[in-house]
Amino acid sequence: MSTTTTLPDQKKVGMVSLGCPKALVDSERILTRLRADGYAMSPDYAGADVVLVNTCGFLDSAKEESLSAIGEAIAENGRVIVTGCMGEEADAIRAAHPQVLAVTGAHQYEQVVEAVHTHAPPSQGPFVDLIPQPSEHDIKLTPRHYSYLKISEGCNHSCAFCIIPQLRGKLASRRVDAVLREAEKLVAAGTRELLVISQDTSAYGVDTRHEPRQWKGREVRAHMTDLARELGQLRTPECTPPWVRLHYVYPYPHVDAVIPLMAEGLLTPYLDIPFQHASPKVLKLMRRPANEAKVLERLKGWREICPEIAIRSSFVVGFPGETEEDFQYLLDWLEEAQLDRVGAFRFEPVEGAAANDLPDPVPEALKEERYARLMEVTEKISAAKQQAKIGTTLPVIIDEVGEPDEDGDIGATGRSQADAPEIDGQVFLRNVPDDLKQGHIVDVSVEDADAHDFFGVVATD
Ligand code: SF4
Repeated sequence: MSTTTTLPDQKKVGMVSLGCPKALVDSERILTRLRADGYAMSPDYAGADVVLVNTCGFLDSAKEESLSAIGEAIAENGRVIVTGCMGEEADAIRAAHPQVLAVTGAHQYEQVVEAVHTHAPPSQGPFVDLIPQPSEHDIKLTPRHYSYLKISEGCNHSCAFCIIPQLRGKLASRRVDAVLREAEKLVAAGTRELLVISQDTSAYGVDTRHEPRQWKGREVRAHMTDLARELGQLRTPECTPPWVRLHYVYPYPHVDAVIPLMAEGLLTPYLDIPFQHASPKVLKLMRRPANEAKVLERLKGWREICPEIAIRSSFVVGFPGETEEDFQYLLDWLEEAQLDRVGAFRFEPVEGAAANDLPDPVPEALKEERYARLMEVTEKISAAKQQAKIGTTLPVIIDEVGEPDEDGDIGATGRSQADAPEIDGQVFLRNVPDDLKQGHIVDVSVEDADAHDFFGVVATD
């Protein structure tokens, strides 16, 4: 005779995660914690006992998107808890959507978990109580083969267009051993690419005076260079190094020290370094950190040390006070800098930002015109750089493998080391071997390229 055991019904939580990779990491943490408390995840609105909306409140357009996502969750499910950056504006949320059950702010993990407990109390029972604490089974919202690794919260700067320090507070760095433990666990669980994120990666540990901790019998400082070196020594279960990508690095002098780690193969040769502008006058108005003159020389030096380095940056056009002369300075600088990947934004006032009080706003039509001119210059640079790679072989991480077509050919998409997920280009592969899987890293012969993407086949020896 067989016996069956009925598990108590687990309460289910749905999650809508908006905003940047940092918010995504917060969503993962909240869900991991809730799962440890006995909740299950619901992939749709209908199956959820309560829906969490992790909002972004940075730009007005992001606030609108957050409010509309909250509205949709209320319409589809009705039981909604709001968290994240826009949670700081509880009044605005409640004015638009009085039905929300609770509103908590960014990083208020305890409060959001408590709100879920209040509005959808967890099922009790021996099986639920035995659910393990977070481990390699932590909830991840990014695909298993890449993971964001958040090393700090907040920021000590006061860039004129930004309200992150108001929203997220001063820099608070995580302990270096905790970061490394999390990275090691992720890599053991299938991560093949670590994306190091924060508001200001090069400032890591400044608040803790770079407090050292023991890691694998060595003393490691909470410092970007020490952390990068240790991350580069991690090994996957197949004994290969994971790709380690640094994001949001400001051009402080000590950044020079991570470039040799790229040349040694410990770090992915990719640097996401948001310059935002080049004109010294505009940078001053923006109150940018590490705003020093010799950036072009340093870029040259970095490329001498590590010729394959891909430098990604973002720029704001139409900042108040930006004259035609300033903008032309930026275009000339870009021609000189030959950056590999560029993102551009038209300046948009953010409620509470100091830039709103600056004189000489740039008219919208002029912002559009400058944006188009900047894109034209950077697309041309990017296209030429991409073309130069045709005929070469590049390592590519596989993001997705398709189904066979009518001829049995299988296609796949991936990314080169110069391409971070979500923000950069892709590599489109044809005729891939049928044992190719997501997360594999393979050599690809580049057959063609456009301004952002590559096209090719898996290289044969
Ligand atoms: S460095 Fe500037 S732009 Fe970046 S988070 Fe801090 S204040 Fe905002």
